[in-house]
Amino acid sequence: MTKASPHQQQQLLRVQHIDTAIRRLQHRRANLPEQQQLDERSALLERVNADHLAATDELVSVERRQKRLEHDIAAVDDRRKAEEARMYSGVIASEREAGALRNELAALKSRKRDLEDELLEAMERHEELTATIETLQTRRQELRDEIAPLARSRDAAATDIDTELADQVAARDELVDALPNAVVAHYDRLRARKNGVALAELQDGTCQGCHLHLTAGELEEGREIGELGLARCVQCGRLLVEPATG
Ligand SMILES: [Zn+2]
Repeated sequence: MTKASPHQQQQLLRVQHIDTAIRRLQHRRANLPEQQQLDERSALLERVNADHLAATDELVSVERRQKRLEHDIAAVDDRRKAEEARMYSGVIASEREAGALRNELAALKSRKRDLEDELLEAMERHEELTATIETLQTRRQELRDEIAPLARSRDAAATDIDTELADQVAARDELVDALPNAVVAHYDRLRARKNGVALAELQDGTCQGCHLHLTAGELEEGREIGELGLARCVQCGRLLVEPATG
């Protein structure tokens, strides 16, 4: 059975402290507030871009509709002028023909009114869309202005953490190199099973892994089921390292 000397136990506790620090750094690295803000702004920008595209597409079709309506109105006007010219040219022989022509002119007038109403509607929509597009363009610029510095501070924060991580990993390597492989392997296996914490300090009879107080009887029981020459906490199953004396 693998045993660790009291000195090795203390060194292993230092490794545990470093591993806890590494885990905390990795968690911070994966959950940078700058990254979260960046993700939020990027999602918003994507929505603004989609809205902008939709408004621009609609504006193009509204402009096409306006042109078509203007063209139709001009055609109705031409037709009306031609009919009026015919009416006053003296070629209309009968009252029946004159009546038909008056009806035709009334129909053209009403058709023109409808087309003009439609044109007015299109012009109003055009105005709305132009305002919307302008607002979206402003919002888009604002978001882009926010994203650039956020990306820079995210990168800076990540770089700081990476530097700290590299320091911790180097310190761990140094400690681990001085320990027997079997001891480290045993510790690593237990750590994987115990959610990253294999070793806990025993302070005034309290396990610092689960913060429960152990009675003398429980400690005795823990020594019997311990590993690496260390007692096991009967509550959480971690190995207990007593503070170094002297
Ligand atoms: Zn415990």
